[in-house]
Amino acid sequence: MGYYCLRCKRIVEITTEYQVIRCPYCGYRALRKERPKVMVKKVKAV
Ligand SMILES: [Zn+2]
Repeated sequence: MGYYCLRCKRIVEITTEYQVIRCPYCGYRALRKERPKVMVKKVKAV
């Protein structure tokens, strides 16, 4: 899972073991889920 901090805008990797989601860099508690990049479906030509 990837999150980014709303304050310092750093990407934070959070494991689900932690109930409290907090930025390890600045201690900010507001993290947003990292937007998934455009999903590229690669279809293999048969
Ligand atoms: Zn932060």
